[in-house]
Amino acid sequence: MTDTTPTPRAERVTHFLVRDVALPDDLGTLALVTLDNGLDHTKPTTLGPQGIAELQAVVDDLHERAAAGEIVAVGVTGKPYFLAAGADLTQVASVTSRDDALALGRAGHAAYRSLSEVGVPTFAYINGVALGGGLEIALNCDYRTVASDAGALALPETGLGLVPGWGGAYLVPRLIGVRKALDVILTRPAQNKPFKAAEAYELGLADAIFDAADFLEESIRWTAAILRGEIVVERRPLDDEATWSGTVAAARERLDATVHGSRPAPYRALDLVAHRDRDKTEAFAAEDEALADLIMTDEMRASVYAFQLVSHGKKPAGAPDPSLARPVTRVGIVGAGLMAAQIALLFAQRLQVPVVMRDIDQERVDKGLGFVQSQLAKLVSTGRMSKDTAARITAQVHGTTDVQEFATCDFVIEAVTEVLGLKKKVFAELEGIVSPETILATNTSALSITEMAADLQHPERVVGIHFFNPVAAMPLVEVIHAERTSDEALATAFAVTKKLRKTSVLVKDRPGFVVNRLLVLVMGKIVEAVENGTPVDVADHATDPLGFPMPTFELFDLVGPAVGLHVLQSLREDLGDRFPASPGLEKLVADGTRVVLDAPAKGLPKPVNPEIQGVFGTAGGAGSDSTALDAAGVLDATLTALTREIGLMLEEGVVATPQQIDLCMILGAGWPFHLGGITPYLDRAGYSERVLGKRFLPDGVANVARG
Ligand code: NAD
Repeated sequence: MTDTTPTPRAERVTHFLVRDVALPDDLGTLALVTLDNGLDHTKPTTLGPQGIAELQAVVDDLHERAAAGEIVAVGVTGKPYFLAAGADLTQVASVTSRDDALALGRAGHAAYRSLSEVGVPTFAYINGVALGGGLEIALNCDYRTVASDAGALALPETGLGLVPGWGGAYLVPRLIGVRKALDVILTRPAQNKPFKAAEAYELGLADAIFDAADFLEESIRWTAAILRGEIVVERRPLDDEATWSGTVAAARERLDATVHGSRPAPYRALDLVAHRDRDKTEAFAAEDEALADLIMTDEMRASVYAFQLVSHGKKPAGAPDPSLARPVTRVGIVGAGLMAAQIALLFAQRLQVPVVMRDIDQERVDKGLGFVQSQLAKLVSTGRMSKDTAARITAQVHGTTDVQEFATCDFVIEAVTEVLGLKKKVFAELEGIVSPETILATNTSALSITEMAADLQHPERVVGIHFFNPVAAMPLVEVIHAERTSDEALATAFAVTKKLRKTSVLVKDRPGFVVNRLLVLVMGKIVEAVENGTPVDVADHATDPLGFPMPTFELFDLVGPAVGLHVLQSLREDLGDRFPASPGLEKLVADGTRVVLDAPAKGLPKPVNPEIQGVFGTAGGAGSDSTALDAAGVLDATLTALTREIGLMLEEGVVATPQQIDLCMILGAGWPFHLGGITPYLDRAGYSERVLGKRFLPDGVANVARG
């Protein structure tokens, strides 16, 4: 096992510390409960069975004090930066029976409900991150305030194979209306986008927002105003039946079109929300049952595995000693095209050093600079960047046609056209200009970096840094170790990508690295099926049951059919006919035919252009009878090919472990958490044992242990 394998650990217990606070104007005593695990801010407060038991005991005591008239209100807040980051997922994912899962859900529910019924008004002061069960403790209170700088607020459960089952599914639609609630419960988790404090306040998840500097004082003053009746928070009436059922039905349609039944959690959450007229007791019991079922699914276990991979992925496995990294004070970018301009912007933004971008004529240079400026203008106009910062970044990025301007760069990355001879020429020219210490990086998608560096005087300074398009949004970078890459060059690449706030995976210099090799294999298998007589729209949707971010032809359209074809052909050349040939695709690219039509609505998949069927020949046509596959057959062939390829990649040492493959596919291709990236899915669906004779991961690491 590596450091990225989730391992059960003892519960990091959160304590509930009670302190009495005298309210102003002799209003009485507020019992202020602070959630604190006694650790620094790098160890978020989470809620496990022992913590919940402690909460229950604290709340029982508060009931007595409220009944005795000792307290007039209860407040709940957290240690600095956190209210709570939710249930302790390591504990949840190590439950071995449904009974234990049910007990876990019920205990949290009971403690939260008991808090809400303590007998005096309850207030949550959301001072920091409030995720899942952390936000639900606040939702179970009568009132909520939020600090303007509170980090993430969200109910991410449906993205983790769970439902917001400590009251969230029942309380949120009643608090903010069913339409917004489904955004909170379904849409945002799918996008992995938590709310900022101001957004949460605007949505109605919090009743008041205060500056961070005196947040607690202001919240207590506000509490007093509520108790005195000076401030009244109006609660919205329940949405009417027609609005409720219409919104739920529309959400179900959207789920069917995007999730395709590939995972149960969002459907279970929607089923919970669907019951408008259930009372709280009934609704909470249904939440307990849903949680118990879901905790015992492989999807949930794989989701937690994926979540932990991504969280720990920031520390790259196998990277050399960071102290070997060379200082980077001036960056050169060769090219000013699609990737180069995005890379230039990112470097200038995050490294805050001068960046010089060079292309072969002024027009192309101006286009690249124009892109940088337009992106900065967009950030300023949407309030995501100050004018001053944008001006500073603009001043850092310089465009030129003169290669001599790279002379004083200590780090140069090339993003010129994907042609080996050209890239070799670019590096050879650079060697004559830059200092012998300068690191030379390449953003190639599929060319051999070893070959690219072969004729240089210092091939050891060449390293691959493979960004994904769009550069700002894609969190993954593949850092590529060519045959002669030095530890200094590698360490510098890791140091740079860390400053760029990307997750880096160390990859060996093999064709297509990780993400392109597997993505293009999937595309190749789908196209191969079409060549053999499977109708285009059947093949296009064959991977729907996996819940990939988009159907295959839409993916082709996104990467550009010419680029996709080029990588497919070059992988076929380098790795053999496991990567299929496709005369149909070649013709589509040559003719410039669009492979998909516009999506019927935002967020829905783009349908395949029916005209392209003719290019591949008639579906199920002459000569194809014996090979035409149905959707299940196409999926099976694709998964078999993926299993074989991942087996080969591990043998070749492309990455050190299956976990690294999963991290790459989750962050570089958006493959779903519930598949665990991909290897947990291939294990549980039986492909790894069938094709390779062994599992990728030990039983129980990313699935419910079969025992
Ligand atoms: P692009 O065609 O948009 O840009 C390439 C630029 O390189 C052009 O502006 C061209 O004029 C310039 N160029 C050619 N020779 C040059 C030279 N000698 N000196 C300076 N500039 C020169 O291509 P792109 O999509 O940005 O791809 C660039 C690289 O990034 C390729 O290696 C590609 O494989 C890789 N890449 C592309 C993507 C993608 O999605 N497009 C993703 C990851 C990596």
